[in-house]
Amino acid sequence: MGTQEMTSSLWDRVVSCCCCCCNSCKKEQEEKPDQNKTITVLRNPMTRGPEDPPENRPLPSPPKSERYIALFDYAARTENDLTFNTGDLLEVLDTSAGEWWIARAVTGISIDKRGYIPANYVAPVESIDAEPWYFPDTKRLDAEKLLQAEGNLEGAFLVRNSESLKGEYSLSVLHQGRVKHYKLQKLDNGHYYVSKTKSFPTLKELVEYYSRQSDGLCVLLGEPCRKMEAPQTYGLSYNTVDQWEIPRNSIKLMDKLGAGQFGEVYKGMWNETTEVAVKTLKPGTMDPEDFLAEAQLMKRLRHPKLIQLYAVCTMEEPIYIITELMKHGSLLEYLRKDKGNNLRIQDQIEMAAQIASGMAYLEQQNYIHRDLAARNVLVGENNICKVADFGLARVFMKESESVYEARDGGKFPVKWTAPEAIHNNKFSIKSDVWSFGILLYEIMTFGQMPYPTMTNIQAVQWLSRGNRLACPPRCPKPMHLLMMDCWNEKELDRPTFETLQWQLEDYFDMDMNSYDESYRY
Ligand code: ATP
Repeated sequence: MGTQEMTSSLWDRVVSCCCCCCNSCKKEQEEKPDQNKTITVLRNPMTRGPEDPPENRPLPSPPKSERYIALFDYAARTENDLTFNTGDLLEVLDTSAGEWWIARAVTGISIDKRGYIPANYVAPVESIDAEPWYFPDTKRLDAEKLLQAEGNLEGAFLVRNSESLKGEYSLSVLHQGRVKHYKLQKLDNGHYYVSKTKSFPTLKELVEYYSRQSDGLCVLLGEPCRKMEAPQTYGLSYNTVDQWEIPRNSIKLMDKLGAGQFGEVYKGMWNETTEVAVKTLKPGTMDPEDFLAEAQLMKRLRHPKLIQLYAVCTMEEPIYIITELMKHGSLLEYLRKDKGNNLRIQDQIEMAAQIASGMAYLEQQNYIHRDLAARNVLVGENNICKVADFGLARVFMKESESVYEARDGGKFPVKWTAPEAIHNNKFSIKSDVWSFGILLYEIMTFGQMPYPTMTNIQAVQWLSRGNRLACPPRCPKPMHLLMMDCWNEKELDRPTFETLQWQLEDYFDMDMNSYDESYRY
């Protein structure tokens, strides 16, 4: 399509803004808030009335109690929750609420009390999930990172699900600062072995055996690997899973973490117990009705590599969006601050793999991000990356939305956007893949602005002549090839996020040869 034909397209907005990074536009818009825009405050259709505390609530059916063990510490966030510590025994009384169960503490500081517990913090006693050394979904590289982290001593170990062979396990052990991996193979009778000369009916027995004698392993098994962080709970508590709108006075704003075009972000405290991030939206930024419709969709998107949306306050302005808090803020700042001093190439690739994994989930859910960029990825402990702001772009950028029209060049991330989206407003998961290619470029250049010497218009014109960003200095060639795949002119020739995820995860060639074969039998 020629530029003359692009009358009502995003191209018009691109050409109306000729700056490189749009900061001036941003500032100008900030200085001229839309005074005429009023906001309709809606009742959230998802809101339920307050629930009876678990003490008073009749249990639905004759409770089938079962004993569970706590895998992590949990500090009660509401007066109806149970506080418990790792290793405490709990009797689960009611699982009907889904992700928050009602339980009675059998041991520990809450002994004999009843209350809500997050279901993903416990595992049935005697199950493999209850073993402190079982790290089921841990990838090989993550296992190495976990074992090499502070606090683990010689012989620290974990058992994880094998990446290459479904239903099989691998043992990873710390020895002299390095991590060795062993395949735990299965005989026809279901017994596990490292060496065929010695097999065990259960993994527990295998672990116990090698904790008493190394018998050919590089080292005697010591303490289980230390767990990093407790997982995110589903929602803030049992009653915010459905009760999505929360009282504004339950949120206390603390330090300001940053500011975007549409408002400021604060570290906040919910219910005086739980740290959260609070995004405050400038009045008039979006129509609350649109936002709530989108939030309904966003709320059901749950993945370890996506920022979890916890709750909203939409009853008055400014609207608050409450999400999980990420210690290191945006990936863009993290990359720029670090300038490569602490990040190794494997860290960069691993971070890219995590983002691809979050995006592969969105792809599977038929959901389009529309604003994928390093500024919209957040970083937590140990380089953990999570994709943020998915879905918000649609609410901000609605075609009919005057706020977006007014902000156009200021908001629109031209240099991250695929040509078909710029020229024909055609956003798809494949335009997200294009943006992912730019995000890879940002990662490999430690947060450099793409097309650094060009304005937005120049970049778009340069791309339409078939040019693409060159391989950045010190970026491995295969990484640049991956970027080039993402920047294929034809959308269908671009890879899926699923493919990108495994390509990045397999980057360091995790083949069979990388297992410790020194154990001969
Ligand atoms: P834009 O408004 O153009 O999307 P942005 O994504 O940088 O820009 P925000 O999403 O408002 O803007 O975030 C502003 C800053 O606040 C981020 O750069 C980040 O440092 C910080 N921040 C945002 N969300 C969180 C969070 N959940 N945890 C920790 N810090 C956050």
